[in-house]
Amino acid sequence: MTESQTPLKPLHPTLYELAEDGRSLNFFFAQCSACNELSFPANAPGCVHCGEPLSDARKLTLPGGGELLEFVTLHVALVPGMAVPSIAGDVRIARGIIEEGVIAVPDEKVLKPGMALKAVAEIREVGGIYGCRFVPADAEVAQ
Ligand SMILES: [Zn+2]
Repeated sequence: MTESQTPLKPLHPTLYELAEDGRSLNFFFAQCSACNELSFPANAPGCVHCGEPLSDARKLTLPGGGELLEFVTLHVALVPGMAVPSIAGDVRIARGIIEEGVIAVPDEKVLKPGMALKAVAEIREVGGIYGCRFVPADAEVAQ
């Protein structure tokens, strides 16, 4: 482990960390010792697939991303400080694990169900905190 140059901190330190490229996010998973499937978040009490306790599960750090399942453009802020319009989507980040995320593209027209997304850091102005956003994996889409 090399020490990070930046003082940035993840908004949800149990879920993800900044990858070495300084922009992508790695997600933390737990691999079930009974069925070998991945669970997320890694600190879940039991395997989301078979219910086995995850206390001695192997922890895995994998590049964050997944398959876009469906999405919708929101015109009303669901949480304080949320920019609108904003695109929310369901992303399959591992087999059997679907998380809701914000898709950082200017227009939902560039999105298609089934497309690959990757997780990137969204740096907040205050506090050196970064959150998680998804962008298309195969395009250099500016935030
Ligand atoms: Zn399991």
